[in-house]
Amino acid sequence: MTKKLTEKKPYTVKRSIAGLGLFATAPMKRGDFIIEYTGELISTDEADRRGGKYLFVVSDTKTIDGKGRENIARYINHSCAPNAEAELDEDELRVRIYAKKKILPGEEIFYDYGSEYWDEHIKPYGCRCIGCKK
Ligand SMILES: [Zn+2]
Repeated sequence: MTKKLTEKKPYTVKRSIAGLGLFATAPMKRGDFIIEYTGELISTDEADRRGGKYLFVVSDTKTIDGKGRENIARYINHSCAPNAEAELDEDELRVRIYAKKKILPGEEIFYDYGSEYWDEHIKPYGCRCIGCKK
């Protein structure tokens, strides 16, 4: 892939404590849209069959499988005290990540993955997010 990005994005993917992470490259204020969590919209049955760590449940019957590399939002790591939040549009079945507070350039962006993910993928190993004591 040698395609040049012409549109300037307010974030970049860099190495973080937990592998790769998404970092702000521009200042953001509370409520600012950061990025959409994109992927294939599949049925819950199909999601259960596939498994994986990039499944985002968007309704009782639908899940976004965000494992594709074009889904930059999948690089956002979990935090129990995050600076961003994922907001589900229940009509469009789309997930957008917004700044939850002021974020400065260079800061890593986090959101809370939610209790279901936490119980399944984080609890068994212990949460290593910044400032987490669980
Ligand atoms: Zn934590």
